[in-house]
Amino acid sequence: MLDSSETGISQNYILTNLKKGNANLIASTPPVMFYPHMPQAPLQPSTLYIVATPIGNLEDITLRALRTLSECNIIAAEDTRRTRQLLRAHDIKQKVISYHKFNEAKRSQTILEWLEDGQTISLVSDAGTPGISDPGQRVVRATIKSGYRVENVPGPCALTAALPASGLPTEEFHFMGFLPHKSSGRKKKLESLKHTSGTLCFYESPYRITKLLSELLTQWPESEVVLARELTKKFEEFLRGSPAQLFEYYAERKPKGEFVVLVHRT
Ligand code: SAM
Repeated sequence: MLDSSETGISQNYILTNLKKGNANLIASTPPVMFYPHMPQAPLQPSTLYIVATPIGNLEDITLRALRTLSECNIIAAEDTRRTRQLLRAHDIKQKVISYHKFNEAKRSQTILEWLEDGQTISLVSDAGTPGISDPGQRVVRATIKSGYRVENVPGPCALTAALPASGLPTEEFHFMGFLPHKSSGRKKKLESLKHTSGTLCFYESPYRITKLLSELLTQWPESEVVLARELTKKFEEFLRGSPAQLFEYYAERKPKGEFVVLVHRT
């Protein structure tokens, strides 16, 4: 038997809620394998795994994500059809149920019952990391509150795909997700960021990109803006410029695809 110094497995445990039939000891960080020759840790019973999936390029899925998806008992997916396609591509046969914004409350309850039963559940969204501008937060909170384990299987996320390659400062950034749809709400939100330092990061639909650029032009005309478009896909591009330049660019073209908008104010 190898001890922790040889295995590199983190033994840093915190005692949390005692739960019947549960492991009771919850790692403050999930066990980490530092050595490639080490056997893979089996999935732990009564655990909700948050599994990140590709945001475009299908190669962007980790070995651990694939193993978790194939070894868990049930996959809770935002879009079951899309997840089944991913599973088929990797020859994974697995039970898939829906978990989306319209059934989150009901499904969270069912998932808790399965966790109570000792099952392992993988949570996946349409693309990227569940819970990041995607459903997930509700069941994660309920799981933690009920004393079960939550483990993240990290991977693709549009925010982390965009920011490092944007060239904008990364030492401090603020992720805002989507702005509200209504003009008054958007204005209020942007104004509230007046004194926020660091790079601001937004998700935005192609239908509102020019609206956002015009709002940035009003709020921070001197800012540096990067539009990170279609990340990891065939037509990936980073468009860099002032709000005015980018607004002008899209005055002549229809914005298409998915966008992360990054803003650096000087
Ligand atoms: N959970 C996802 C993640 O981890 O990034 C985000 C899901 S959210 C519903 C979808 C938004 O993420 C899109 O409207 C876009 O702003 C951004 N996004 C997702 N994929 C993208 C991509 N390939 N390129 C640029 N932005 C993307």
